[in-house]
Amino acid sequence: MSRVHLLATGGTIAGRAGSGVEPGYRAGEVAVESLIDAVPGLRALATLKGEQVAQVGSQDMDDGLWLRLAARVNALFAGDEADGVVITHGTDTVEETGYFLHLVVQSARPVVLTGAMRPATSLSPDGPLNLYNAVAVAADPEAHGRGAIVVLNDDLHCARDVTKSSTTDVQTFISPGPGLLGTARYGRIRYFRQPTHRHSAASGFSVDGLERLPRVDILYAHAHMPPDLVRASVMNGARGIIVAGMGNGNVSTQAAGALAEAAKAGVIIVRSTRVVSGDVGRNIEMDDDALGFVAADQLNPQKSRVLLQLCLARGMERLAVQEAFYRH
Ligand code: ASP
Repeated sequence: MSRVHLLATGGTIAGRAGSGVEPGYRAGEVAVESLIDAVPGLRALATLKGEQVAQVGSQDMDDGLWLRLAARVNALFAGDEADGVVITHGTDTVEETGYFLHLVVQSARPVVLTGAMRPATSLSPDGPLNLYNAVAVAADPEAHGRGAIVVLNDDLHCARDVTKSSTTDVQTFISPGPGLLGTARYGRIRYFRQPTHRHSAASGFSVDGLERLPRVDILYAHAHMPPDLVRASVMNGARGIIVAGMGNGNVSTQAAGALAEAAKAGVIIVRSTRVVSGDVGRNIEMDDDALGFVAADQLNPQKSRVLLQLCLARGMERLAVQEAFYRH
């Protein structure tokens, strides 16, 4: 039997409400052993070990916890203590944690992230089957080499491509563009494809010995976007700014001026988009060459932030960062 190590971080999957039909609840209350015990047949899929790493709603996930998680996963694999890892996580930021681990875990062994949209105490919780499928994927030799995989609602997503699309629906995760990595039906896994971009040891990124990540802010673009938030970010120490731009990563002329000034001063500016699908290309409506910007290609703002933090931690310059956005 495969050895699967379960790292619990909180989220709605570990949430508790006053009754089975109450919409309000508190994330991150149910302990890892109870999560495991709530799933009949789970221990038949793999030799399981549970570990409580944190107990937070994933809106409180931060760079420090990412670094701790990455160190723990890398140590488990380097010490041959597990064949696969499952991380239970809140759904709000699972796409960011997943992409971070996709880039910095140095092993081909699977890292599988799962969560739930309904708390553990719900009349009809979605967490137990999600956890069952996640453990099945982590125990599956076929999952090796596919990087970090997000498993929810019977679907397997590459951590690079997945995003949350509904605040409330159980079917919330989508992978616009590249599409699903596979499906899971009661633990029976099918794969449709491999990840399309560099990941794991081949990513070239490592967080070994890092104690913090550089500050990167995300600014949300809109009609009548003012330039002053750009200056506020720079004044507060941002070394990179991601713009959740309009359409194909556009910003107002005024904001573009402030961003170009920041780029000249050495801050890396990445144009992503507030639109849920489609690429952001170089020099389409904005002259990236003249303004000194990077185009995010396929990464949404929150994924772009993760990649730019890792690029900055490695001391990469603007042109190398642009290459990283095409390759990762
Ligand atoms: N706010 C919760 C979290 O991300 C939502 C969830 O888990 O579904 O932890």
